[in-house]
Amino acid sequence: MQIPDIIIAIDGFSATGKSTLAKLIAETFSFVYLDSGALYRGVTLFAQENGFIDPDDTIHEADLKAALDQGLDLHFGADGTYIGDRRIEQEIRTMAVSGQVSPIAAVPFVRAFVDAKLHEAGARGRVVMDGRDIGTAVFPNAQLKIFVTARPEVRAQRRYDELKAKGEQPDLEAVMKNLEERDYIDSHRETNPLRRAEDAFVMDNSDMNLHEEIVWTQGLIQGRFGILE
Ligand code: C5P
Repeated sequence: MQIPDIIIAIDGFSATGKSTLAKLIAETFSFVYLDSGALYRGVTLFAQENGFIDPDDTIHEADLKAALDQGLDLHFGADGTYIGDRRIEQEIRTMAVSGQVSPIAAVPFVRAFVDAKLHEAGARGRVVMDGRDIGTAVFPNAQLKIFVTARPEVRAQRRYDELKAKGEQPDLEAVMKNLEERDYIDSHRETNPLRRAEDAFVMDNSDMNLHEEIVWTQGLIQGRFGILE
C-alpha cells in the first residue's frame, strides 16, 4: 500500500508500545522513524554526567541552559542517538535515566531545545515520530495522529521484560512506580503536557499483537486517505 509523504504523530503514556508501533509503521510504509523521547533522555544523560542534576532531582537550570546554548550536538544517527560521535543508545535506556527524564523534560528551555531538533529532523516529511506532545505541539498539523494506551500492568510488564532482555535486573514494583511518576509529571507539567490531540485516533493495544496493530493502522490510513489497497 502506497501512502503519501505525511507526518504521522504517535503519542501516549509511558511504555504503551508507541515506539514498537512507530517502527513497524516505518518499516511497512518506508517512513523514517524518529524517537523524540530519545532526545529528552539524551539531555538527561548529559545533565547527569555534567552535574546539572542532583540525585534529589534538583536541576541547576542556569548551568544546563548555558551548556545547551553553547550547542550540544545531540542528534539521531543512522543506528540510534548520538552526542557528537558517541553513541548513547544503551545509556539513555537505563532506569537511572528513566528516573530523571521527566523533571528534565518539564523544563521549558529543554523542550525548546528538543523541539528545534525535532522540527529539523521531521521537516522532510514521510516521518513517523513518537512522544508525548507530537500531535499537540511539535507537529499539530500532522496528517495522522494516533494516541496509544494500554492497561498499567501490561505496560509495566512490557518495560520490565525489555530491561531484563538488556541485562538490567529490574524490580517490577520499581518499574511500575517509575511509569506512574513519569505519566503524572508528563501530564501535569505546564509546557506542552501529555494529552490526546482532539483529532487523534485512540489505540488500546493491551490485548493486541503486532500484526493486529499494523492491520488496525492500515485500516485507519485507508479510511483517512481514501486508499482502496
Ligand atoms: O518515550 P520515552 O519513554 O522514551 O520518553 C522519555 C521521557 O521523555 C518521557 O517520560 C517524557 O518525560 C519525555 N518526553 C516528552 N515529550 C516527548 C517525548 C518524551 O516530554 N515528546
